[in-house]
Amino acid sequence: MQTGFIGLGAMGAHMARNLKRAGFLAGVTNRTAQKAQALALEIDTIAYANPAELAAKVDAIILCVSADADVLSVIDAIMPAARPGLLVIDCSTVSADTARRAEAQLRPLGAAFLDCPVSGGVEGARDAALAIMCGGSAEAFARAKPILDAIGRAVTHMGPTGFGQSTKATNQIMCAGIIQAVAEAMAFAQAEQLPLDKVIETLGKGAGSSWYFVNRAPFMAKDHFPAGFRVRLHDKDLKICRQMAARHGVTLSVIETTLAHYAQLIEGGFGDDDISTIFRLKTALFDPKS
Ligand code: NAP
Repeated sequence: MQTGFIGLGAMGAHMARNLKRAGFLAGVTNRTAQKAQALALEIDTIAYANPAELAAKVDAIILCVSADADVLSVIDAIMPAARPGLLVIDCSTVSADTARRAEAQLRPLGAAFLDCPVSGGVEGARDAALAIMCGGSAEAFARAKPILDAIGRAVTHMGPTGFGQSTKATNQIMCAGIIQAVAEAMAFAQAEQLPLDKVIETLGKGAGSSWYFVNRAPFMAKDHFPAGFRVRLHDKDLKICRQMAARHGVTLSVIETTLAHYAQLIEGGFGDDDISTIFRLKTALFDPKS
């Protein structure tokens, strides 16, 4: 299955490298062309000028771009090459409605679409260890599975189009609650003047541990939050979750509190930090003068 990759950001560049290692990658393209050219040189693949040129040369396209409007604009850009047999796999985190729109746009031309958002962070993308949740037909999923196995460790067909994104929204709500808890606990530990490295080592093996505690509490201990999962992106995801919850007539406190915190962080110029930067707000609680 010859595969092309669109969107060579923090996640996409690693995913493209892993597809190349597994022998699936036939080419890449990116809005900022220099990134595609640099990666093509690094991994010996072809950089195409635009999505349609790439899509015309491959059996499957994977895209991993930012938000709903970006996915829809990439789908528009692929349309000239949409044809029976083309499989389009979207690994971006967007709404289930956007997945359904993309599928409906491609279907009349015979092209299949799968929503396949991923979880596992930049590290998971680098290590081909992503959890991948897929929505779409069983037939499209069966075709996509070998490609997705090259970038992920747990690849699951959740149900029809949109079900991948609904599963991802579930995950994003959970991440909000966990990063809140880890940041509050670490700010408390710091106020108690505990040795934070020992706290991380010991509690990392305890019942309250989590991926975020093990991987992001060290950022908090160093007060340094290099972009892994940007505040801006989780903010975007939680707004999708808020809309989806509102359809059930529900407001969820984890979503609302975290969005209020992210608004403050973005305003303060921390929107491109990793979400563990929320620790800043929690330490300020213990030091009201700061
Ligand atoms: P990123 O580093 O900001 O990269 C975004 C990529 O999308 C870039 O290649 C960008 O092109 C491209 N892009 C954005 N808008 C576009 C448009 N309108 N047309 C064409 N290309 C466009 O983001 P990321 O961290 O890789 O995240 C990508 C997706 O994965 C997001 O939906 C995010 O929510 C999801 N995700 C991220 C993580 C994480 O830890 N980072 C984890 C799981 C899921 P340029 O190079 O030209 O800017």
